[in-house]
Amino acid sequence: MKIETIAQDGYERVAKCEDPESGLRAVISVHDTTLGPALGGLRMWPYASWDDAIFDVLRLSKGMTYKSAVADTGLGGGKSVIIGNPKTDKSEQLFTAMGRFVDSFNGKYITAEDVGTSVEDMIHVRKGTERVTGLPLDMGSSGDPSPWTALGTFRGMKACLEEVYGDPSFEGKMVAIQGCGHVGVYLARLLKEAGAKMILADIAPERARDLAAEVGGIVGDPATILEAECDILAPCALGAVVNDETLPNFHTKIIAGAANNILLREEHGQRLKEAGILYAPDYVINAGGIINVSIEVEGAYDEERARAKVENIYHALKRVFELSKERNLSTNEASNLVAEERLQAGRERAVEA
Ligand code: NAD
Repeated sequence: MKIETIAQDGYERVAKCEDPESGLRAVISVHDTTLGPALGGLRMWPYASWDDAIFDVLRLSKGMTYKSAVADTGLGGGKSVIIGNPKTDKSEQLFTAMGRFVDSFNGKYITAEDVGTSVEDMIHVRKGTERVTGLPLDMGSSGDPSPWTALGTFRGMKACLEEVYGDPSFEGKMVAIQGCGHVGVYLARLLKEAGAKMILADIAPERARDLAAEVGGIVGDPATILEAECDILAPCALGAVVNDETLPNFHTKIIAGAANNILLREEHGQRLKEAGILYAPDYVINAGGIINVSIEVEGAYDEERARAKVENIYHALKRVFELSKERNLSTNEASNLVAEERLQAGRERAVEA
């Protein structure tokens, strides 16, 4: 196994690994460990080149630093990628080798599943390192993150309702959900209990139909769901749904969903502000999964502690909204500022110690 460190300004350590025996070609990026060990998922993707893989892992690991800082998880930001096709290139040997690569970071990086990897892959990674989370509950781990992501999104929506209507109640409010997958299903169940009305859309029509039958919602058209007349639009499928084309067509007061990278570009946050639409920054509202994992990293996993901390997303968003008003910033700019302030405070504490 050949591990080579790549110099990268603004990052603590980036390294690439080539292991001819297992076929592993991977990159780990530790962006920042000021607030704790860097935690972030392992992505497997058929990148066209090392440069593409490095570009992606740098971007994603920095995002994890900000996400964990705002969520106050006591973790830093990191990420890893394997160059390969998740449908055809997986093997036990490959993931065990990846585990050894993770282990070479001596605890500075902790991995988890992500796009293209599964719990089963993590079980193989565990053969090469102890620095892996998101294993099955019966292995003492924190299990499926989706219900936690849904709970955090639900709590974040409450903060949005309070901000816009002066009342956090869902009673009679219309929520349009794009994507009835892992998170969408759990979210819709919470919304039903809270008395919300729902429009549900999925490109797999049976998913929307089954969920609508369960929670009493209306089935929406996936081609037009972003234009639905609603109080909250909840993107829970894809990123980049706020862009130049979609922006003039929203009929919602709030955009708050679990999807990653909801804004195509940062400037689209400002455009939402100008349009009078409250945007819950994606990495703040969808942090339930990482918060749950952070409880596992602290020590013995405790579900009640996880719940309390995930529910705190409500307060994290309130803080973002306050700052956005105080400084006349878009909400995404305000959340970046909260993250940077937390990191700066962490650096000052480290200097004093
Ligand atoms: P998933 O793959 O289980 O569900 C996504 C659903 O969206 C699928 O049912 C799919 O058919 C549907 N879909 C795809 N394109 C669509 C479209 N154009 N219109 C309508 N529906 C469409 O994924 P998930 O785990 O539920 O995650 C949803 C989003 O939340 C993703 O963006 C993911 O990155 C993000 N996220 C998930 C978690 C988590 O804990 N699962 C944590 C943080 C962020």
